[in-house]
Amino acid sequence: MLFVDVILPLPLAQAYTYSVSEGLEKQVAVGFRVLVPFGKRKFYTGIVVRLHQNQPNDCIVKPITEILDDHPILLERQLVFWRWVADYYLCALGDVYKAAVPSGLKPDSDIKSSIDVDLQKSFSPCTEVRVRLYHEVELQTCDNPYLQINQWKDALKRASKQSELLNRYLNLSGWTEVADSPLLPVSRKELLEAASTSSQMLKVLVDKHILETYEVEVGHLLRQEKAPTIYNKVLNEAQSRAMNRIRNAFSRQSVCLLHGVTSSGKTEIYIHLIQQVLQTGKQVLYLLPEIALTTQITERLSAVFGSKLGVYHSKYSDATRVEIWQKQLSDAPYEVILGVRSSVFLPFQRLGLVIVDEEHETSYKQQDPAPRYHARSAALMLASQSGAKTLLGTATPSLESYYHAIMGKYAYVSLTERYAGMELPEVEVVDLTELRKKNKMNGPFSHLLLNRIQQALERKEQVILFQNRRGFAPMVECQVCGWVPRCQNCDVSLTFHRKLNLLSCHYCGYTYQLPQRCPACEEDNIVNRGYGTERIEHLLQQLLPEARIARMDLDTTRTRSAYERILSDFQAGKTDVLIGTQMVTKGLDFERVSVVGILDADTMLSYPDFRSYERSFQMMAQVAGRAGRQGHRGLVVLQTRSVQLPVISQVVHNDYTALYDSQIEERERFHYPPFCRIIYVYVKHRKEETVEVTARRLAEQLRQSLGEQRVLGPVRPPVARVQSLFIRRVVLKVEQTVSLKSLHQYLRSLQQFFCNSDRALVLYYDVDPQ
Ligand code: ADP
Ligand code: ZN
Ligand code: ZN
Repeated sequence: MLFVDVILPLPLAQAYTYSVSEGLEKQVAVGFRVLVPFGKRKFYTGIVVRLHQNQPNDCIVKPITEILDDHPILLERQLVFWRWVADYYLCALGDVYKAAVPSGLKPDSDIKSSIDVDLQKSFSPCTEVRVRLYHEVELQTCDNPYLQINQWKDALKRASKQSELLNRYLNLSGWTEVADSPLLPVSRKELLEAASTSSQMLKVLVDKHILETYEVEVGHLLRQEKAPTIYNKVLNEAQSRAMNRIRNAFSRQSVCLLHGVTSSGKTEIYIHLIQQVLQTGKQVLYLLPEIALTTQITERLSAVFGSKLGVYHSKYSDATRVEIWQKQLSDAPYEVILGVRSSVFLPFQRLGLVIVDEEHETSYKQQDPAPRYHARSAALMLASQSGAKTLLGTATPSLESYYHAIMGKYAYVSLTERYAGMELPEVEVVDLTELRKKNKMNGPFSHLLLNRIQQALERKEQVILFQNRRGFAPMVECQVCGWVPRCQNCDVSLTFHRKLNLLSCHYCGYTYQLPQRCPACEEDNIVNRGYGTERIEHLLQQLLPEARIARMDLDTTRTRSAYERILSDFQAGKTDVLIGTQMVTKGLDFERVSVVGILDADTMLSYPDFRSYERSFQMMAQVAGRAGRQGHRGLVVLQTRSVQLPVISQVVHNDYTALYDSQIEERERFHYPPFCRIIYVYVKHRKEETVEVTARRLAEQLRQSLGEQRVLGPVRPPVARVQSLFIRRVVLKVEQTVSLKSLHQYLRSLQQFFCNSDRALVLYYDVDPQ
């Protein structure tokens, strides 16, 4: 009798064994998808990872229902990579499967026939079943849609599964934050998966006239089949030298760090390098930290590589992602894939080079859900398993990568000149403490900054303002009694969004009406505290009524088109000032920006994390790099209360080495990465007492087995309750020399032990947290 071990898209510790009915033995192989029953009445699409003859003797083995493929959809080396991800990041292989494979390739359902329908859909001319709010169009244009939504939420209060499903929908569609831009399409598949619920539950909400489903035909790959134009940009001398050094390095080493100041032409070098790799018949993966950057880079790459280029990211429909996956398995795959984090999971048949652009970016790390992987580390492993080279590129290397370069583990190539002799910007520091004392501020703006903005606009130049908080006011407060509205599910104060006239929780997405009167003292003196991007926009517009101002943050960029419009308007000079969160700091390339304002460096600097100075430096240096153009030196106005901090002068002098030296010394002294490995253990529970007691017991256990000095905590994280779960964190610091295999085995058994003793407990690990 033939048996197959199958991984399921579920957080299960191991693969499940099924039998293969007679006659089907020859039709199944590793990497094929099979439809299998699981639990009482569910069917899942699993992937075969092993064939064998060993009848398991501890359980009843069910037969597979159907074989779905006649060729593997998962290459063997991908499975090896998946296993590494699961082992290293301490999660289930099923979690990796879930994250790696587009939903359309892994339908599940309570009834088999609906899977057949799903399967047909994902391969036939691409229709997709989507979900939207009941009478969505009418709803969005009515006076106060939020009232309706909140009514629904209240009505579902006692039905936690249903309310979870509705919340998931709202989150996925970007509903809570957006008033004027259309909602994101949400596929039924995606929604059910995100909410981990059945189609039955969705049907309940449809019957209640809260959600409705509809079907759309989704476009095929958004690819203009145009032939690539002849690429005529020639590398200048510094660039050619860097390029040659990279190539030489790759003949000896497999990883190279390209440290090039902003606008030195790193992207040009990537393009030339990719061309050379393609000539050898190999494929290239070009990773970007987030979609915020893909538009510009896509344009540049597709001008060169035309239809050889595939773009893979989360704002494309699932059907498109399925198509790309299938194409990568075919005999005419894309030769270059430009993609975000999850594109490390695509099938590559002959990978030759991985480029990790902006390698220092923390958004390469997936926070939630599992697998909590770092795409840079994953890319390095993927490349090493495929015999490919990795190029890490950035203007502000992560401390880890720079350390490896210094230690000789990575090759190191630097580019110190900006292209075409452009100078780095001048940085003027403004001391906020002093100005506040003398009352010389205009809200969040110093007079110096306002002057510089005005001068730039008079010269028809552009301005970028960076403030790392979205919304109108990060907090509102009763001026009489000090009452501050807080989220009922999370341990945070609420952010006021003026345009929506709502308070919203940035952790769970829940929204609240702003009370007219303070519920504590009944006075009507509720005031805004602090400045979010929306408020900065509002105030600047009042001060400069003529200026054309745009804002780029999570709230204004829920859809790809909204995002692209903001960027292209700014690029075309249709807007003068671009205000934004860290989104504006990214490697965007504008020609007319002469002034950059950093409104408040202190929120970044005071963030309680051992990386906060490194991050602040990176963010400030990156946003500063947007200033200046050929022949004109740019200007950065840096407003802070911490003028005396060394990191401020490091930004002023763009002195990465000084930053590195001071930080690496601290890391060594206080024993932080790269001198050790950090694992956070998260414990979550609905009851605060339980979480407290359990976390203490856990830390005690860990201390006994790993030794006092390797375990810190438990501590309350800065936000100690999210979505009604109380949170504690235990920090593990282990030397690089500790065997990961036995450590991870131990941690898994500990996790199992604790979770088995309390089913309501959530316990997971975050390896290499960012
Ligand atoms: P980085 O990636 O280091 O920030 P880019 O590659 O984006 O730098 O280059 C900055 C700007 O200079 C871009 O507009 C790019 O087109 C231009 N540029 C850089 N190198 C060259 C070159 N060799 N020939 C023509 N233009 C170049
Ligand atoms: Zn009050
Ligand atoms: Zn909340």
